Parts: sequence; C-alpha cells; structure tokens
Amino acid sequence: MYFGAHVRSGGGVWHAIENGLEIGAEAIQFFAGSPRTWKPMRYKEQDAEQFRALRADSPIRFVVIHTIYLINLATENEDFYEKSVTALCGALRAADQLGADAIVTHIGSHQGAGFAAGLERVQLALRRALADSEGSPVKLLLENTAGAGGTMGVDFLELGQIIDAAGGDPRLGICVDTAHIYESGADLRTREGIDQVLRELDDGCGPDRLAMLHLNDSKTPLGSNRDRHENIGDGDLGEAAFRLLVNEPAFRDLPGILEVPGLDGKGPDKENLDRLRALVD
Ligand SMILES: [Zn+2]
Ligand SMILES: [Zn+2]
Repeated sequence: MYFGAHVRSGGGVWHAIENGLEIGAEAIQFFAGSPRTWKPMRYKEQDAEQFRALRADSPIRFVVIHTIYLINLATENEDFYEKSVTALCGALRAADQLGADAIVTHIGSHQGAGFAAGLERVQLALRRALADSEGSPVKLLLENTAGAGGTMGVDFLELGQIIDAAGGDPRLGICVDTAHIYESGADLRTREGIDQVLRELDDGCGPDRLAMLHLNDSKTPLGSNRDRHENIGDGDLGEAAFRLLVNEPAFRDLPGILEVPGLDGKGPDKENLDRLRALVD
C-alpha cells in the first residue's frame, strides 16, 4: 500500500498537489469545488494544464476527486435525484479534465423505501453517469457506509449488487473506508476479522473491484453505525488494526488515503502519514 491524504484544493486546483507533497503524500483526494453546494466545477483549461504538469513531475501516483456530500443517488425526490446525477456527471468531467484516476462517491440513502427501490434508482444514476462520460478512463468508485439511516452500500454484498445492476462496467469500483466498515460491524483488529472481510469482498464484488482505501481510525465502537473519524492509532481501531491493514498483501498496490481530523484539527497531516509508514514491516 502507498499512502496519501485528502487535501485542500482552494486558490487554484494545482495547490492540491503542493498541499499533498508538503505532508509527504503519494496520493491525493480533494473536492472539486465546495462539498456543500450543487454548483458543478468546471476548471479553466489553464488551471487544469498546470495541475497536469505539476503532477507529471511529482511522486503523486493516484489522484481522486471526492463528490459533494449532498449527493443521494437513491432518493425518491425527483429534484434531488436529478441534481445528484448532474453532480456525479460534473465530478467525472472535472476529474477527466485534470487527468485524475477516479472519483469516489457516497451512494446515498433510500430513506425508508427499502434497498430494492433504492437499487433501481442508483443503477440508473450510475448508467447515466457512465454514458455521459463514455470513453473517459476515470473510474467511478462507490464508498461503503457506516450503516446509518437506510444508506446504500453497507457491505460488499450490497456494493456488488449495485455494480451488477448498473451493468458491471469495468470503470465501476469500490473504495473501502476502514472507519465505516468497522462502524458497520466488521472487526478489523484481528487477522480473522480481516480475512472475513476479504472473503466477503471476493464473494460480493469479485477480486478486482477494490481500487482504494480510506484509512481512518474510528471514534465510535464496533457496530456503532455512527461515522466519526479519528487520527491513526488514537481511536477504537488502534495501531494493531492498521499494522494488519498496511501489510495486507491484497492491498499491496492500492492507495490508502487519510481523511482524519489531524493532530491540530486541520485535516490529514504528516504525523498521521508517518504513523502509517512506521507500521509497515
Ligand atoms: Zn467519503
Ligand atoms: Zn466517514
């Protein structure tokens, strides 16, 4: 595994690369625009060019855009649904402009309508986004959830069903958030727990869909269904879990990206990256 972080991209998107390099990241994730507004980001060609040139000369191996938090691809509210699909398409377009490797998105909640009803809406949204970005190499990664309030994609069975229903396009993949999976009830603190997760991943989604991890410790206990990220080693998962995770052969070539609060509360920092690297055998 190689390590990176969610970074700021304000004041010119190429700053995301500088902000990543400053803390020693080999992979970066950022929001294209504000994560709490619908307005899709369209970069000036000059800015995108500067981003691509800086990246080409850097040790950054993986670039991913995180979609806005508002997105709900499973909602029955038409207006909200259309805005969500538009935002998903916008993120794919922005990623393509920057030469990014992927976008990662939360799927959303069926809000009580049930998984099957949600699945219908999600698969259509994914098909529309893939068609809108046809020919692009940018991957569309679905993130697992902590399991709160009807959220879709709580385990690999659900994620696999969603990918299949959307037609199984090779650009569809998975991002596993270590805090979310622990909060949803999978114990990553033991060898047996991790082996169980790997079996479920294989059974639910097949061996090749996993494209990245979000490496976050959890402030809340196993199975809490409450999503609260903590700095590496300071939470309920603790150092033992991350030692197993960073040395896991199945994750060897994947980026592990921090979304932790940081020691000074300003987001992922060098200290958290150092903690991860110190655990590698
Ligand atoms: Zn996320
Ligand atoms: Zn989270």
